[in-house]
Parts: sequence; C-alpha cells; structure tokens
Amino acid sequence: MKDSYGREISYLRLSVTELCNLRCRYCMPAEGVCKKSHNELLTQEEMLSAVRAAASLGIEKLRVTGGEPLVKPDIVALCREAAATEGIKELCLTTNGTLLPRFAKPLREAGVRRLNISLDTLDEDKYRYITRGGQLEDAMRGLEAASEAGFDKIKLNAVLIGGFNDDEIPRLAELTLRYPVDVRFIELMPMYDGGDFGPEAFIPYTAVHEHLPELEELPPDGGVAKLYRLPGALGNIGMISPISAHFCASCNRIRITADGKIKPCLHSSDELTIKGLSEDEMRETLRGAILQKPRWHGELSYLSRSRAQRNMNQIGG
Ligand code: SAM
Repeated sequence: MKDSYGREISYLRLSVTELCNLRCRYCMPAEGVCKKSHNELLTQEEMLSAVRAAASLGIEKLRVTGGEPLVKPDIVALCREAAATEGIKELCLTTNGTLLPRFAKPLREAGVRRLNISLDTLDEDKYRYITRGGQLEDAMRGLEAASEAGFDKIKLNAVLIGGFNDDEIPRLAELTLRYPVDVRFIELMPMYDGGDFGPEAFIPYTAVHEHLPELEELPPDGGVAKLYRLPGALGNIGMISPISAHFCASCNRIRITADGKIKPCLHSSDELTIKGLSEDEMRETLRGAILQKPRWHGELSYLSRSRAQRNMNQIGG
C-alpha cells in the first residue's frame, strides 16, 4: 500500500530478538540488554500474524533481523513459516554470521533467499575490539558456510568508522574479487547516546571513492545503495548514506521490533503497539503506521542525533 507521500511500502524488517552474542560498540551497550520478560515480547505466533497482516497490505519483502536473529530459539521454523506466507516473495536475514556454520544450510532450506552478514574489519584484534570480544574466525567460517549453502545473494555490511576501519576500505572491497558477494559500506548512524565514537568517526560514503578511484559506477537497482564495481570483481560495492545523502524519498520500509512496536521511520520516536492484538487489529495498526510514515527522518548528524530513542539492537538494522 502507498503511504501519504505516495511511496509504495513493500518491505518489512522484523526484529525477532533484542539479544545478541556480540556487543558491537556502535550498536549496543557493553553490558548487553536488560532482558525483557516473555510477556513483553512478541510470541512466535504473533510475529507470524504480523507478517501475514503486513503481507495482506502489500508487503512482499521480509527481512528477519535483531539483535542477532540466530540466537532466537526456533529461528529456522519461524523463517520457514514466514517464507511460506502468501504474498511474501522474498525472505532475507541479517546476521553477524558467527552462528552460520550451524544455521546456513537449514535457513536456506527453510526459504531464506538472501543474507546480509555484518563484517566491519578483517583484522582479528580490531574485530575483537569492535564486537567487544567476538572472534573474526567465527564470522569468516560463517561466510564460508553461507557461500556453500547456495543463497541467491550474500552481502557483507561494513559500518564506516573513521580512525577504525577507513584504512581497510580497499581490503574489504577486495572481498568482491575473491567471493561472489557484494560489499556495502554504511555510514555510521548516531544512534546510541553512550556510543564510543566521537565526531571524527562519522565519515561520508565519499571516503570510499577516495580509497578506490578505480570503482566503476553501475545503474541503480531500486535499492538504497549507490552501486559500483571493482574491475574484474564477482560482486558489487554498495554505499549507503543515511547521513550525508539521505534516501527517505524512496524509503519503502517499515519496522517491527521484538517487543511489538511498529516503527514507521527508523529515526523517529513514533511507535505503534501490536503486542497482544489480533491479526485483524494488527493489520489496521499497520495501515495506520504506513499512513503516518514521515516524509523524511529529519536532520541527522553527530550533533543532531537520531530521535529513535533505542539502540539498533532494539530496533533491527
Ligand atoms: N546481529 C545482526 C548483525 O550483526 O548484522 C543483525 C542486527 S544489527 C543491529 C543490523 C545492522 O545494523 C548491522 O549491519 C549493523 O552494523 C548495523 N548497525 C548497528 N548500529 C549501527 C549504527 N549506529 N550505524 C550504522 N549501522 C548500524
């Protein structure tokens, strides 16, 4: 269905848990999250009702995210049912990849077609630092397992962090020469007030061009990333610029959090509750949320922080 600015809303991001097995410094606090009680969170059945309600309004693409979706019990069953929902044409999942050696094949068999794997660095010490304790080797094994499982598409997402991984832009981009994957550089969003990064960490996507002058521009594919390719590469380079060049005019998505709030816009504090509602009531609440989706996310910079009032792990990236 169309929102009040004429945008066709066809994409739902469903966060299935706030919990994560890593603690990325730009995403969540070191101590993790205050574990919510079961009755504050959507049940698996409520998540599936929300997916059916959304599909009946024209949602065709579903992304399962978190927190870390692969720490949720029964994630494979949830994906299987979500993929089989009438109207859902494409099921995607975003993960840090560390649990993919166990889950890649079952997820593919359950109907997940596309995977986004977060990978901000190829340096073991830096990986341990940014994730507050994670092992790069686990993520790389996950990437191998995903490559073997036969997904339609694998994208590696790196958040651009000045002074942390800008020196690794060429090395990360070169993964597209070795694997049939896309590598996407995402501008750091000022989400988490207690985050570890100051103004110098916010670097625009144009920094990627400075490091990779040989990039060849590709036509847009309808997504939010500006697309390029290294000569001879197996996959594309994408640049996602929520800060320096926002793409709100073509935003086609809404979000549902694990605690049952619809977020019509990532950076707005507006939330509509679906916890405890029937499927019909969810449909009407979703319809209202789509109609109240704002025209744009408002000024966003290190000085004008996101008004989302949640960390990313509590929204779903
Ligand atoms: N655990 C999964 C993962 O690591 O991909 C899924 C959830 S995570 C919140 C989803 C995406 O949000 C990741 O690609 C992560 O890098 C991104 N993200 C989190 N905080 C961000 C921030 N402040 N700015 C930009 N991207 C962010």
